[in-house]
Amino acid sequence: MNPTTLHALSNADLHCHSKVSDGTLEPEELAARAKAQGVELWALTDHDEVGGQQRAMEAALAQGLPYLTGTEISVTFAGKVVHIVGLGFDHTDPALVAGLRATRGGREPRAREMGEGLAQVGIKGAFEGALKYVGNPELISRTHFARWLVDAGHCSDVPEVFRRFLTEGKPGFVPHRWATLRDALRWVHEAGGLTVIAHPARYGFTPTEEYALFTEFQAHGGRGLEVVTGSHTAAEAVKYGDMALEFGFLASRGSDFHSPDESHTDLGSLPNLPGQLSPVWLALQDRIHFPRG
Ligand code: AMP
Ligand code: MN
Ligand code: MN
Ligand code: MN
Repeated sequence: MNPTTLHALSNADLHCHSKVSDGTLEPEELAARAKAQGVELWALTDHDEVGGQQRAMEAALAQGLPYLTGTEISVTFAGKVVHIVGLGFDHTDPALVAGLRATRGGREPRAREMGEGLAQVGIKGAFEGALKYVGNPELISRTHFARWLVDAGHCSDVPEVFRRFLTEGKPGFVPHRWATLRDALRWVHEAGGLTVIAHPARYGFTPTEEYALFTEFQAHGGRGLEVVTGSHTAAEAVKYGDMALEFGFLASRGSDFHSPDESHTDLGSLPNLPGQLSPVWLALQDRIHFPRG
């Protein structure tokens, strides 16, 4: 594929996770899976981390798969966690790398506290247990706790762990201060990239809070909204497609794939973006890494 055929591209998958954050596959395995699944443009978007970018890009290009750099940054907004996907930035940018490292910095103490909370309800050894599932010691996440709790027989699947133990008010939930919206956007924009609000339906915001998020995001130069994602129902995709038009946001599309055993939506298997929306990748033409030849 060459840049002039970008308009015909529909199967972009611009959101997924590797072992460098809370996915279960290596960046190279994801590149191969994306290619096999018919993905035409791919981005690996590990949580708060760009350590897998070089590997993902090299593996994608070796497969003949165009690549955009990516990350998914955890942000605290209105007392909740919002995820911002950054795309098409320079993954070696020192301020971005330092900002993400600082964002990761609180994860270990938080995880120790999560272990203490679980111990209080009789679940011992969760911190040490979760650590065994971690691919990147700086990125211990709730997902790793969930996998350990399932394998140790405390719950039957990952969603049950989140419901019973890892969401607000539950014994293993520890609130955390992540990046600010303003900082997260600035890191990506100053590294040459574009930002997207990930899975907007997932936050449980009131319409007023959502309006505040979209407005503040736009005021800080944010340009994209994830409309079609593995985290949205068809009705939610329609709703956020309409909101993208209302706000003048570019639309993004990504499976949020984490694992062949856990994820309902595989790489490259989402519905297309509704036709009237402007795909985020057309604004990122200059940032796409194309295979040679
Ligand atoms: P953390 O960044 O440590 O707070 O972990 C957040 C991660 O947990 C998300 O990126 C998802 O991969 C996963 N997650 C959050 N909520 C759920 C849920 N209800 N069921 C399954 N996985 C979830
Ligand atoms: Mn995750
Ligand atoms: Mn997310
Ligand atoms: Mn994600």
